[in-house]
Amino acid sequence: MFASYRDALRAALLYLVISCVWLGITGCLLNNLFDDSPELVRWQLINGYVWVVLSAGLIVLVRGGWPGFLGRGAGLSRHAEDRAQLRQAQAVFDCTHEGVLVTDRQRKIVHVNRAFMEITGYQPEEVLGHTPSLFKSGHHPPDFYKKMFQDLGRGGQWSGEIWNRRKSGEIFPQWQTIRVIRDDCGQLSHYVAVFSDISAIKDSEHELKHLAHHDPLTDLPNRLLFGDRVEQALASAQIHKRGCALLMIDLDHFKMINDSLGHNVGDRLLKAVASRLREMFGPGVTLARLGGDEFAVLVESCGQLVQAAALAQRIIDGLKEPFVIDADQLFINASVGISLFPSDALSAEQLLRNADSALFKAKSAGRNDYALYTEELTAHAQHRVETAFELRRALEQQELRVYYQPVHDLRSRRLIGVEALVRWQHPQRGLVPPGEFIPIAERTGLIDEIDAWVMRQACQQMCAWQDAGVVLSFIAVNVSTRLFARRELYQRVSQVLHDTGLDPACLELEVTESAVMGDPEVALEQMHRLRELGVRLAIDDFGTGYSSLLRLKRLPVQKLKIDQGFVAGLPWDDDDAAIVRVIIALAQSMGMQVHAEGIEHVEQAAFLLDQGCDLGQGYWYGRPMPAAELDWARAPLIH
Ligand code: C2E
Ligand code: MG
Ligand code: MG
Repeated sequence: MFASYRDALRAALLYLVISCVWLGITGCLLNNLFDDSPELVRWQLINGYVWVVLSAGLIVLVRGGWPGFLGRGAGLSRHAEDRAQLRQAQAVFDCTHEGVLVTDRQRKIVHVNRAFMEITGYQPEEVLGHTPSLFKSGHHPPDFYKKMFQDLGRGGQWSGEIWNRRKSGEIFPQWQTIRVIRDDCGQLSHYVAVFSDISAIKDSEHELKHLAHHDPLTDLPNRLLFGDRVEQALASAQIHKRGCALLMIDLDHFKMINDSLGHNVGDRLLKAVASRLREMFGPGVTLARLGGDEFAVLVESCGQLVQAAALAQRIIDGLKEPFVIDADQLFINASVGISLFPSDALSAEQLLRNADSALFKAKSAGRNDYALYTEELTAHAQHRVETAFELRRALEQQELRVYYQPVHDLRSRRLIGVEALVRWQHPQRGLVPPGEFIPIAERTGLIDEIDAWVMRQACQQMCAWQDAGVVLSFIAVNVSTRLFARRELYQRVSQVLHDTGLDPACLELEVTESAVMGDPEVALEQMHRLRELGVRLAIDDFGTGYSSLLRLKRLPVQKLKIDQGFVAGLPWDDDDAAIVRVIIALAQSMGMQVHAEGIEHVEQAAFLLDQGCDLGQGYWYGRPMPAAELDWARAPLIH
């Protein structure tokens, strides 16, 4: 009725003034005209009647909105204010980056702003009169919308993330606030929805989440995500009563590729390995990179041990094919450790740990193979600890022995040197070969002491032979990778030579290819210093590592020892024959001697002689034996 409280006040005042004026005028008039006569009573009645009519008329006018004119000047300025406010609101409405959509109470769209058009791709004429269900993405279940209208009914407002569909059909996330508008009588008249497109935020959120859970190099799940997947898989396996397998893969000697060919090549190789592994597996298998050269595979349904073993073999075989990087062929082997749920472990953490132990077992057993986790492994670990303890005692109790294996000149067939090989005369276990305790000694640090002791024994023995008139060109001693990496090696060697008085030219130090290529710069410096002492240097087990030819050329080495693995197939295995030929040619081209180990048959010796190999060592010539048993007169015949 009244536009405002002020209007109502004005109307009441007007009514009061008119009433007073009327009653005042008529009262005076009547009093003057009729001095207390019956006429006066009649006229007062008429006056009252007119007053009532006047009042009624005024009320009718007021109800009809007539008093508006009373505040005409003020009303006009307020209208102008309102219009300005409306224009401002319209400008805000159009400029805002948020989409705005207004519907009537039947949820028919009655207004949209410019941002709405930009975000949704619709023009107003395409949406006006329609309901917002036009934008439904199908992303939310009916309950979602039911809950939304319940909230609107209860609190008059709803805010949340909602996925809608643009005109192009693209589904996108938006953050939306809807408010209910009510009229003066409290009746729902409109809904106003304000929303913003949050696809960009969602994308970066998604990207961040992806980065936190994936390895950036290979884009495979990382350790964190893999751990989660294992936990989920075990929970589901428990419910469905099925088995799972976890395979841990480690690339053999990958460090050498990194060191010899550079990290760039190493990274590309890792990427290539990841994509080859990815191709091997279908759904239900998760492949992850746990770090460095370590990958892991989770098979969500694997009931049989043989299934897991077959998969491990497939991985090993699959990685054997060369990788081509920059037109170069790179070869890499892998070791795999397997742990099974529920037979080996019941928790994700245990399963991972056991697969890791199995991997260690595979690596210790010579790499390029797989190993299963069984309870035996725990016993294996305990055995290692005991052995390390006993080995300490063995050194003190002088249970170690040095055996000597003859080395022959292939052309003259003469015995020209020996290799010193350590043994452990164990009080209960008998003669223990070095393969069973050298790796443990390397891990516990005892190897330094063992190598120093063997070197001293060997040098003393060589002096004793020389004193007895036995003419040998050299005595070879193995130097562990660990000791080779340390600078004290030089002091150790010079001290032993000084103490024993052996001519340094008679001492040959054998270093494995992996020790040299592990840290080529340190190796180079170490070798130069040792050469200054006058000792000879040989690379042992050549062909099993990743030698960089360029680096090999720079090394002050006098001899390459062909690994017995290549000699074993001679002369019938074409691959072995080809590799041996190449190594001999390589050594000759670099002015080095070639020495073949593991010669067990006359045919192997004949082939090697034929190819120009200089020296030979193996059971065919003689096994490693105590010094006293060496038969100096024996000169085996090749033909
Ligand atoms: P290696 O230096 O390559 O020594 C050659 C190995 O091949 C020896 O094994 C030897 O007995 C074996 N062998 C020789 N001829 C034949 C053959 O015709 N057929 C076969 N199947 N094998 C043959 P061993 O004595 O068991 O030594 C194994 C490895 O242990 C050595 O390989 C060497 O790497 C390491 N080692 C031995 N003694 C020492 C030592 O005093 N210090 C260090 N650090 N390592 C040592
Ligand atoms: Mg050796
Ligand atoms: Mg060897």
